[in-house]
Amino acid sequence: MSRLITNPEEFAADAIDGFVKAHPRHVIAIDGGVMRQAPIPEGQVALVVGGGSGHYPAFAGLVGAGLATGAACGNIFASPSAGQVHRVGQAVERGGGLLLAYVNYAGDALHFSQGAERLRADGFDVRIVPVTDDIASAPSGQKDQRRGIAGALAVYKVAGAAAEAGQSLDAVERIALRANGRTRSLGVAFSGCTLPGADKPLFSVPDGRMALGMGLHGEPGLSEGAITDAKQLSQMLVEQLLDDLPEGVNPLTERVVVLLNGLGGFKYEELFSLFGAVANQLQDQGVVIADCECGELVTSLDMAGVSLTLFWVDPELEELWCAGADSPSYRRGLLPASKPAQQQTGQLQMTTMSTAGSRLIAREQISLLSPLAAKPCSLEEQAVSQQVLGDLKTSERELAAREIELGQLDAIAGDGDHGLGMLRGVNGALAAAQAIADQGGDVKALLIAAGEAWSDCGGGTSGALWGAGLRAAGTYLKNSTPTDGDWIGALGAAVTAVQQLGKAMPGDKTLVDALVPFQQRLESGFQAGETPDKTFQAAALASQEAALATASLLPRLGRARPHAEKSLGHPDPGAMSLAYVVMAFSKARTANSEG
Ligand code: ADP
Ligand code: MG
Repeated sequence: MSRLITNPEEFAADAIDGFVKAHPRHVIAIDGGVMRQAPIPEGQVALVVGGGSGHYPAFAGLVGAGLATGAACGNIFASPSAGQVHRVGQAVERGGGLLLAYVNYAGDALHFSQGAERLRADGFDVRIVPVTDDIASAPSGQKDQRRGIAGALAVYKVAGAAAEAGQSLDAVERIALRANGRTRSLGVAFSGCTLPGADKPLFSVPDGRMALGMGLHGEPGLSEGAITDAKQLSQMLVEQLLDDLPEGVNPLTERVVVLLNGLGGFKYEELFSLFGAVANQLQDQGVVIADCECGELVTSLDMAGVSLTLFWVDPELEELWCAGADSPSYRRGLLPASKPAQQQTGQLQMTTMSTAGSRLIAREQISLLSPLAAKPCSLEEQAVSQQVLGDLKTSERELAAREIELGQLDAIAGDGDHGLGMLRGVNGALAAAQAIADQGGDVKALLIAAGEAWSDCGGGTSGALWGAGLRAAGTYLKNSTPTDGDWIGALGAAVTAVQQLGKAMPGDKTLVDALVPFQQRLESGFQAGETPDKTFQAAALASQEAALATASLLPRLGRARPHAEKSLGHPDPGAMSLAYVVMAFSKARTANSEG
């Protein structure tokens, strides 16, 4: 979608830099994202939103008085990391507690929940509300598994208004949950989108067809049909949304806020013509429109698509929806003018951090992000660090070679970014590990820093899980010259952390399917007294076999779940990447012992 020559690695950070410069009255760059420029009153609940870049005006465009207090900004289509959520939360908290809200995608859920844990550890009261308005992404019996799309505006707007009005965290959380429960959306796509720097679209819709319920990141639609006219499309969207009414809502007695959202390549005049048809449809059905928005609210780069949201308001929600707000992309009513940033206490430092902070994650910054300053250790201990550094280098080479293959595998039922995400993650982990090794740090510090950086740089579901696994392994190790038994224990801790965070069991078609057999085979070989090389080789093969066997499974978790059938016959990308990495370790060990 970019017309200019761009560096894809830098694109999202450059866009945020420019966005902040273009909206100095509204936002300030902070480490991990942006915060509102208007002073935040002491005791006011802070609403932190966030998500991947590529969806403007979601999410940074919704930061401002009466709306979100801050936004954590991930890379293109990749969730922000737990570290970013944590840092943005710290920057905006003013004693009233934090409400974290995000559109419900697996990666965002993992990173926001970890971010929340860290904020709680800082002593803040933190609540989480995922937005789940997309009715195409799960049946009505599994509403909490639905994805979020343009309904996010409804939820963020009323929560932000309640916070601005000085309501308590309990009240703001209740209002956000209520708004989410009363919001339903459905979208169609006519063409795919192209990632910055890419020469072809991430996905495509056949000519003359439209995909119903396609996800914001090109997750395949749930069905496909011939393109129709505005009247027929509005009929189809309205009918399906009225078939999925929130519990207790009577469409003939309650009022609705209608949001018609262009996804990037579906522009205004056509949106208006569709809106007219939607309004007629609703009127014909006897539904009273309380208010509306028609424009680009949540986009997907240059995807040609449109979504309709019905937000069923009660008097309290309607009043909050209509309250004043002043953000870069959404303004209504009158709010007091903001003072220049320099006059605000506590924010000046943020402003001066902005140049460094607004780079999402630059490689050279990783050592600064690492929470541990490495303690110099003995030569024997340093040798262990060097070994693990070598393993990370092996992983980086393997993942670089597999990037395209893994991306293609992820595009079948997911969003096509697995190869890129793994490479970004391992690159970050390697840079952080190198920084620790250069300081003479031990393997514990190295693994923890590598995990933190993997999560920060990789983003997405796999970034959160690999990050958590590496951190857990480092935390588990009791000393800096681990025995084989210690390593087995550290791997066990990593598996536990991955399963605790992602809640996946073997058979769910995730990376856990390749991880658990690897761990079990290593453990049984170790207990049987096999030689380490033989055990490792057998464990890597077990992992590979299990990863390949996921082809016959249906995904029960993650982004691929709504498109379960599409993935049949293809192995899970996360399981394959894990197996590739452990197979590469095994080959490197064999080569070393033979050499
Ligand atoms: P995203 O889905 O956020 O785009 P990636 O594409 O990088 O993230 O990673 C996708 C992989 O993550 C899947 O192939 C699967 O192996 C793994 N995964 C997804 N959800 C879970 C989960 N809950 N637990 C463990 N692994 C998961
Ligand atoms: Mg993916």
